[in-house]
Amino acid sequence: MARSTKYIFVTGGVISSLGKGISAAAIGALLESRGLRVNFLKLDPYINVDPGTMNPLQHGEVYVTEDGAETDMDLGHYERFTHAHTRQANNCTSGRIYHRVITKERRGDYLGATVQVIPHVTDEIQLTFLEASQNCDVAIIEVGGTVGDIESLPFLEAIRQFRGKQNRGDVINIHVTLVPYIRTADELKTKPSQHSVAALREIGIQPDILVCRGELDLPGDIRRKLALFCNVREDCIFGARDVESIYMMPCYFHGQNIDGKICELLNIWSREPDMQAWEDVVDIIRNPACEVNIALVGKYVKLHESYKSLIEALNHGGYANRSRVKLHYIDSEELEALAPADVDAMLSPMQGILVPGGFGVRGTEGKIIAIEYARTHRVPFFGICLGMQMALVEFARHVCGWEDACSAEFVEHSEHPVIHLMASQQAVTDKGGTMRLGAYPCVLAEGSRARDIFGCREISERHRHRYEVNNALRAELEHAGVVFSGTSPDNQLVELFELPEHPWFIATQFHPEYQSKPTAAHPLFASFIRAAIDMRRP
Ligand code: GLN
Repeated sequence: MARSTKYIFVTGGVISSLGKGISAAAIGALLESRGLRVNFLKLDPYINVDPGTMNPLQHGEVYVTEDGAETDMDLGHYERFTHAHTRQANNCTSGRIYHRVITKERRGDYLGATVQVIPHVTDEIQLTFLEASQNCDVAIIEVGGTVGDIESLPFLEAIRQFRGKQNRGDVINIHVTLVPYIRTADELKTKPSQHSVAALREIGIQPDILVCRGELDLPGDIRRKLALFCNVREDCIFGARDVESIYMMPCYFHGQNIDGKICELLNIWSREPDMQAWEDVVDIIRNPACEVNIALVGKYVKLHESYKSLIEALNHGGYANRSRVKLHYIDSEELEALAPADVDAMLSPMQGILVPGGFGVRGTEGKIIAIEYARTHRVPFFGICLGMQMALVEFARHVCGWEDACSAEFVEHSEHPVIHLMASQQAVTDKGGTMRLGAYPCVLAEGSRARDIFGCREISERHRHRYEVNNALRAELEHAGVVFSGTSPDNQLVELFELPEHPWFIATQFHPEYQSKPTAAHPLFASFIRAAIDMRRP
């Protein structure tokens, strides 16, 4: 008999930013290392159909899946912690649910019924549970926001209904809550968690497990109090104290045997987890052999969450070299206002400079200043997406001597639009979901540095952009020293270029950061950090 899928619902209480996504991902990692196939679903209560049109300064990074879905950044955590392949079906917003319901209503699918939140919206939500749980043993379903929010009510109601339809022992609810420490009283407080669990019970959901976020470990008396007032067994209450690195969470949770308890509650027979890979990561984080200074020159540096995958990929590149990456966030707009000597003072302590992706003209001239510095001072340079486009503009201006070189995103008509819109994008009017999105193949040129780094001829990497390298100007740029060492198989799209005369200068149109894991760094990030470490030697 086929084993039925098990479901873990994860909700959050008291405040947002409790690390629900990391908890879900770490639990996924533990179940996976017990030999179980896991997948995830993130439910977001906002009305946008996807986060693709949202400002990264508001919502953090947009994570792009292989199939080109623009999704919540928690999917990035899921992929970094496990081998789950997330797709569009693994992220759903209220907007998407309503979009589907209204489309059905307009089509006449409801046969004259009055369309309501219960049952039509909640049924549609339950369909997403089934879609996301295909081909896995355990589906981990996380509800964004905090219990008590008006927006998340339909999701919670759908969970209640769904649980009632499943066999006993196939569904559990984990509630991630805050146990604050009040310094003046030297006390941990359980009241916010009591209220939040009460709010959950009011909707008809009794959590099976509490994960208690706080500054300190949970002492026994607090655990007993929470058990009594929240109606959760004492051995089902787990601590989630602040740790140095999110990658310590799998070992930290396993130390409390949360995975054993989950398997017991879900009637899953599995082996003990193999924690070696995670223990190795923790060991490197605690005992790095060296530290490298990397500048991240971007426009969204005020909210580090906007570059989440990138920052993580740089950390992974560090782990691959047993080193710690010290990141310096530099606002590209601020660079524009500096005198050359001050730019030198700011960038000279750096062993590597990375210019990430972005949209809009603001700060792009500052990126060009940083790129010129890296190119002329022979500092390892990594350009990603807009960073790559600006690197080509910089080269065109300062090496080819095309002073007006630009991207058509910023200057519509110039003599040298090295970056432009291809015909397929010129017809696009809707902004949502219409960029070049998701995984595309890329062929690496024989004898190039990129080919050497990847060790193979063809790779597949994810995209999120509208503009492309202008093929009409490629020959002249090549003549001046640019090597377009990664292209689409038909050679029509530039995917990567490098400067062979430079110690390490690689720029990619794709976003390699989406595929990097702490246990398996992306080759470009591992190589970039290696080059940065080598810079430190005289
Ligand atoms: N704005 C550029 C484009 O649309 C780059 C996008 C990005 O960096 N993700 O092509």
